[in-house]
Amino acid sequence: MARYRDALCRLCRREGEKLFLKGDRCYTDKCGVERRKYAPGQHGQKRKKLSDYAMQLREKQKAKEIYGVLENQFKRTFSHAESMKGVAGSNLLQLLELRLDSVVYRLGFASNRRQARQFVLHGHVTVNERRVTIPSYRLRTGDIIGLKEASRKLNIIEENIAKMEHRGLPSWLEMDINSLKGKLLQAPERDEIDLPVQEQLIVELYSK
Ligand code: SF4
Repeated sequence: MARYRDALCRLCRREGEKLFLKGDRCYTDKCGVERRKYAPGQHGQKRKKLSDYAMQLREKQKAKEIYGVLENQFKRTFSHAESMKGVAGSNLLQLLELRLDSVVYRLGFASNRRQARQFVLHGHVTVNERRVTIPSYRLRTGDIIGLKEASRKLNIIEENIAKMEHRGLPSWLEMDINSLKGKLLQAPERDEIDLPVQEQLIVELYSK
């Protein structure tokens, strides 16, 4: 499947804020947004007033970039969110958070969602003791997320877990640090998802 392969910091600079796509580097002064506080490209330093449509579009792009999801999959997730009970925008973020790659990141096994996606694809991750290699796999309440026996000893995973205090564990997840197993306690409510996304603008964009 096609993936975005250009520099990740350009995405943050385009949105004008940190999207934390790179892990450790995002917390240092090497962060692209800290070093160059303007949009990438030849006209990046010009100040532009955004139309309503442009603001809606940017908000949708931002959510896609944060979760590393491409357009068609994002649209399908939105359609599902619309068909659920409740507020479509909150449902959308909840569905994105419940992706396996996102939860692997939230548990601290990976330093960013792209790395989490790699771990899932490479077969390091289990759900209820069974290996799952689909990054978009949607978790359910009570699911236990773990690592394959051999993967628990990987240096990169040990290092990621040691640095977890940068972020903290969300209230809707539980983690047993000894067995390296996490549990989904419940689907997150909107106020438990700490993202700089105005989901209402995404709903407005798709409602046109
Ligand atoms: Fe974004 Fe992280 Fe790059 Fe900073 S270092 S611009 S937060 S990806």
